[in-house]
Amino acid sequence: MSALGKILRESIAHDGPMPLDTFMAVALGHTRHGYYMTRDPFGAAGDFITAPEISQMFGELIGLWAVETWALLGGPSRVSLVELGPGRGTLMRDLLRAARVSNEFCAALEVHLVETSPVLTQAQKEQLAQAAVSVTWHTSIDSLPDGPAIFIANEFFDALPVRHYVKTAEGWRQRLVGLDANGALSFGLASEAEALITAEAQDGSILELSPVSQLLMTQIARRMAQGQSAALVIDYGHVETGFGETLQALSQHRRVDPLAEPGEADLTAHVDFAALARAASAAGAQPFGPVTQGEFLMRLGLAQRAQALKRKATDAQALDIDLAVARLATERVGAAPGMGRLFKALAIAPLDAPILPGFLRNTTP
Ligand code: SAH
Repeated sequence: MSALGKILRESIAHDGPMPLDTFMAVALGHTRHGYYMTRDPFGAAGDFITAPEISQMFGELIGLWAVETWALLGGPSRVSLVELGPGRGTLMRDLLRAARVSNEFCAALEVHLVETSPVLTQAQKEQLAQAAVSVTWHTSIDSLPDGPAIFIANEFFDALPVRHYVKTAEGWRQRLVGLDANGALSFGLASEAEALITAEAQDGSILELSPVSQLLMTQIARRMAQGQSAALVIDYGHVETGFGETLQALSQHRRVDPLAEPGEADLTAHVDFAALARAASAAGAQPFGPVTQGEFLMRLGLAQRAQALKRKATDAQALDIDLAVARLATERVGAAPGMGRLFKALAIAPLDAPILPGFLRNTTP
């Protein structure tokens, strides 16, 4: 049992079972033992690999997206480029390099990184040491400056805690993390049903909600109402809200029991893009998408960028570039899953903004 497992068991023995989102927040964010607080989880030797770590092309295309979006928003003379959960800082490094195509954008730019992990903050500082722009770190969005902003969040929302409700004869009961007869962490149900959830479903159905994600999207969307701002969310998830659970724990690229070693495994859930788009709309913003990551990157010019890189590449490098394109933009790469279809891109902007790059239309629910 991990150090955090012991702390959680003691807390439950003392205070009773806890909601799944509380458990997830502690497992990922506990100051001393939380998963993200103690390690760099990325890469072949880590627990998972993300798009910016697969290829520089990903961050570069998002850099071009940011430049074009800024221009479509009227090219404000000051703009905060905000990244939520920047990981190793790789996306931002590649983005800033590509953004050099526009001197005006670079001159307007201030970078703000929202990150809770000390280990990853350090990695970002090293990665961005040579950046020619000012970079400020924040542990929450509350301290971000007002004014025009472009938000980028890649594989960030999937790390935000979810709650589960299970349909029973009495109604929807919240799933709680408690202790079994042997004192081990185990799932159970709240004794009372939730009066506020009235969805019709068969007994045993599961509803997965992320109140934290909804709130964060609402806060970001409210800034759109002030104008000249936009946000881009890329993550794996579903286009329609539905029943079913998607919580998964990953350790060294393998799925493990989410309760087995809290703090040692990454915990994530699929992002409910429909719910995010509804929250954004309700807060006065205009949503675009979601579209698949494959469509989004192709529309931004992934194939052309790959061609340009291959012109200067060795044969081995050219193969790597082709493989990266396949991993980023298609559904399958040999026997392995690609990111092209499971991952989606959603953007939001003020109501009067034109269609943003990579999207075909406004999707106000
Ligand atoms: N965007 C990066 C990293 C994704 S992993 C990439 O694509 O490679 C999730 C990131 O979000 C990590 O940097 C993690 O430390 C950070 N994070 C997780 N929960 C957070 C929270 N509540 N607030 C801020 N950052 C958080």
